[in-house]
Amino acid sequence: MTAMYIPLHPLKFKSKIVDQIEIYKNHFILSFTREPEERFMAGQLLALTTAPDTIPPRLYSIASAETAEESTCYQIYYNTTKEGQLSNRLAALKAGDELHRSSPFGQFIFPKSKSYFIAVGTGIAPFLSKIKSTDHFQEVKLLHGAKNLELLLGHEIFSSKLKKNYIPCLSQDSAYPGLFQGRVSDYLQNCDASKLPLDYHYYLCGSAEMVVQTRDILLSKGVPFNLISAEIYF
Ligand SMILES: Cc1cc2nc3c(=O)[nH]c(=O)nc-3n(C[C@H](O)[C@H](O)[C@H](O)COP(=O)(O)OP(=O)(O)OC[C@H]3O[C@@H](n4cnc5c(N)ncnc54)[C@H](O)[C@@H]3O)c2cc1C
Repeated sequence: MTAMYIPLHPLKFKSKIVDQIEIYKNHFILSFTREPEERFMAGQLLALTTAPDTIPPRLYSIASAETAEESTCYQIYYNTTKEGQLSNRLAALKAGDELHRSSPFGQFIFPKSKSYFIAVGTGIAPFLSKIKSTDHFQEVKLLHGAKNLELLLGHEIFSSKLKKNYIPCLSQDSAYPGLFQGRVSDYLQNCDASKLPLDYHYYLCGSAEMVVQTRDILLSKGVPFNLISAEIYF
């Protein structure tokens, strides 16, 4: 018996694919049309699918800017997974094709001005959206992990806006000695607790493994539980 899909977030819109770029093996930025009046807050999600009758929608964080002037399309950052039903179909989409999607929704938003963002891989999407959308980033810190520089999506914009508050970590690329070599968890494990401010809110985004590991290190370094929020991609 197949499980019945109950749509919590109705697929009200059809969007046209504007562009698809493979930034690195199996990692894609997909751009598709946004309705002119649609608003969202950085950190929110879309439910989407290519074939609503046969493939239940999956969730993707919006990676593009909130303001329609900055971004007339939605963008998502995703990777294909082995035997993944939807992601491999998304990867086959070309300009002019259509997908079915919900309105933006979700509570993983960033109300605190003093924010410490921590992301690995595609988990950077909500923070990329936030930093593209704001000029008030003096009190924003970002710890950003990826395997290599190509996968460090947004590193130019982060470096230019956040300056020394941007900490890129490369786990499998030693060609850039100026950058931290290792995982985000290695950085946090080795980091002096005094560098983890207690007047900031910590926002974590990525796989369950990364979020749990990072949360535990933060707690062990004295960051209180109530200062930590997370979005888990599962
Ligand atoms: C809140 C939230 C936000 C998210 N945001 C993003 C985002 O911005 N970017 C992003 O890339 N992802 C995001 N995700 C994950 C995304 O929703 C999908 O789960 C992901 O893209 C995988 O979908 P899929 O269709 O490829 O895999 P599915 O078909 O759903 O399969 C799920 C997993 O099972 C494995 N699998 C499938 N079939 C088999 C099999 N026969 N044998 C063994 N393993 C199998 C697949 O490899 C995959 O890892 C988010 C998830 C959540 C919950």
